[in-house]
Amino acid sequence: KELTSSQVRQMFLDFFKEKGHMVMPSASLIPQDDPTLLWINSGVATMKKYFDGSVVPKNHRITSSQKSIRTNDIENVGKTARHQTFFEMLGNFSVGDYFKKEVIPWAWEFLTSPKWLGLDPNKLYVTVYPKDTEAYRLWHEVVGLPADHIVKLEDNFWDIGEGPCGPDSEIFYDRGQENNDVAEDDPENFPGGENARYLEIWNIVFSQFNHLPNGKYVDQPHKNIDTGMGLERVVSIIQDAPTNFETDLFMPIIRETEKLSDGKSYGKVKEDDVAFKIIADHIRAVSFAIADGALPSNSGRGYVLRRLIRRADLNGQRLGIKGAFLYKLVPIVGEIMKSHYPEVTDQQSFIQKVIKNEEERFQVTLSSGLNLLDNLIAEAKNSNEKTISGKDAFKLFDTYGFPYELTFEAAQDAGLRVDKDGFDEEMKAQKERARKARGNLQSMGSQDETLMNIKDKSEFEYGVLEEKHAKLID
Ligand code: ATP
Ligand code: MG
Ligand code: MG
Ligand code: MG
Repeated sequence: KELTSSQVRQMFLDFFKEKGHMVMPSASLIPQDDPTLLWINSGVATMKKYFDGSVVPKNHRITSSQKSIRTNDIENVGKTARHQTFFEMLGNFSVGDYFKKEVIPWAWEFLTSPKWLGLDPNKLYVTVYPKDTEAYRLWHEVVGLPADHIVKLEDNFWDIGEGPCGPDSEIFYDRGQENNDVAEDDPENFPGGENARYLEIWNIVFSQFNHLPNGKYVDQPHKNIDTGMGLERVVSIIQDAPTNFETDLFMPIIRETEKLSDGKSYGKVKEDDVAFKIIADHIRAVSFAIADGALPSNSGRGYVLRRLIRRADLNGQRLGIKGAFLYKLVPIVGEIMKSHYPEVTDQQSFIQKVIKNEEERFQVTLSSGLNLLDNLIAEAKNSNEKTISGKDAFKLFDTYGFPYELTFEAAQDAGLRVDKDGFDEEMKAQKERARKARGNLQSMGSQDETLMNIKDKSEFEYGVLEEKHAKLID
């Protein structure tokens, strides 16, 4: 079936509306009243207030397409077929309403019924948590999935730090042997492994515990369901695209970038394609983040924006694009997304101004910084040094606006390392100086620093968790 991305998104929302869900608009990318997250990184991140009982929803069945940003995937963009920093997570949620026996057959119906996506059932695999015999039984006996399409995986326990969590079941689509990037006998050669052949499309979480700030897990008074399906991944399957990028969500941005480039076209040279993909990804993230109220700066969310804009600009240079250009892609992002998200088009000129201003600032410092970096690399090579010092990396950051990662990537390309510890120390010392200079007005700065350190997944407290897992046997 050939469907547009807008149709796929709408079908998902319609399907769950038919199953009695209320359709909620996407929340802002900027978390509201939630200091544990830098960005909204999933649909469920916006549902915590319902799951922890602090707010009672009008309807206990909710569906949404949620804008999400994951900075932990920055390095993956353009390298894997399936990761972006900004993506849409389609989700259905049960707040103490339905549980496993409803959600598993529904997921199957949406994916395989000719009325809906109509995917080939033979290409679908699922993973389940080994102790979750109920999920296994539902997939095997109720849905009729053969045993060799069900993989038991210890990893299938979903947890984003504080908040609801529980065992999960993930759905994979077999992209065929030709997409296998590991050997036949590689331990990762199975659905759920690090392997491009089996594309993870949907995660269904059976949320039955609450992860407390003190690290403990307690039973939730009501069992909940939350699910997350990556729109771009599903669209890549529907549109028969080799990666998320050759779909109607990204190709118009890539075509526009080609026009701005020095005669480069997509699909010719691998390194160029990575640059095209990074630009297409980053402009979406930046446009939506600014539309939701974030602005480039030197810390927290602002630093993420700065880093994305600068990375996109450097990749533009790789394609022979001179000067500020990224802002020119905002209208096309707005155009692609406006049927469901009008905010980029609505604020187009403001978003463009912010990006252009940031790009221009970067262009000025970039040329002098690049000179310095070239010199440092040459010097290091001449003196047989293998490392760029933390002091130098910090100078590039502080004086020339080079995010650490830029220096790191350039050094890596030249076969050198960067003294990260040294860099971190310089950074700490500078923060300390800034804190002293600010006197009592420090709460924002110190909060941002905390947020920067928050990772997507937190460590389990294993003892307690094991105890909880034991309860899952039913
Ligand atoms: P992966 O293992 O591929 O990194 P994940 O297990 O981290 O994905 P989940 O946290 O389970 O992802 O999120 C639910 C769904 O959201 C995934 O099944 C996928 O379809 C989608 N998704 C997650 N991260 C990304 C991303 N960076 N870009 C695009 N889609 C994503
Ligand atoms: Mg991931
Ligand atoms: Mg995964
Ligand atoms: Mg997952």
